Amino acid sequence: MVLGGLWGVFAGFAAFLTNWCNIAQSVVLGVLGMIGAALPDIDGKNARPRQILLGILGVGIPFLLLGSHWHGLTNEARLGWIIGLYVVIRYGTDFFLCHFSRHRGAFHSIPAAILSGEITFLIFVDSSLTVRFAFALSVAGGYISHLLLDELYAWNFIGATEKKSAGNAFTWKTDSAAGTLLFYLIIAIIGYYLLSASKNWKFG
Ligand SMILES: [Zn+2]
Repeated sequence: MVLGGLWGVFAGFAAFLTNWCNIAQSVVLGVLGMIGAALPDIDGKNARPRQILLGILGVGIPFLLLGSHWHGLTNEARLGWIIGLYVVIRYGTDFFLCHFSRHRGAFHSIPAAILSGEITFLIFVDSSLTVRFAFALSVAGGYISHLLLDELYAWNFIGATEKKSAGNAFTWKTDSAAGTLLFYLIIAIIGYYLLSASKNWKFG
């Protein structure tokens, strides 16, 4: 958790100092990096970090999904949308994760990290391309650094036996072959979409 925060601060500073992002974008990028670094443990046994994370996503996702539609809506409609989606994300996902996922399962894998980057790229649809790449890299980088640290930590301090029982921290596949296939299929579909859209991209 602390190291995730460090990653966010580091990524934010790096983006700002290299002129990749302006100051406001760098702050957003830093926060996104912290969220990315926290995401792999969203299915963790400890409910508290998961609930905090789902709370943040529960407000952030409906807000970002509205995008430019925000202007055409009344306040009641905006509030209704955000509250409705908040309940679904915060409590629905919490219920789902509690009952159907295993800690260090599908979320604790490299394909999940790639997917998190792709989704971040898709969400910030009206940002400049360079900023979208920076945000996606920050989230996926935070995600991967989490997996990497879990792996190193397990090897150094806990040992291989604990590591086995806790599941593999740094892996290219999930528990089930079908799940892995589905994961890569989703990544490929979004990847294909991004690639075909990239013909019209203008950098600058
Ligand atoms: Zn972890």
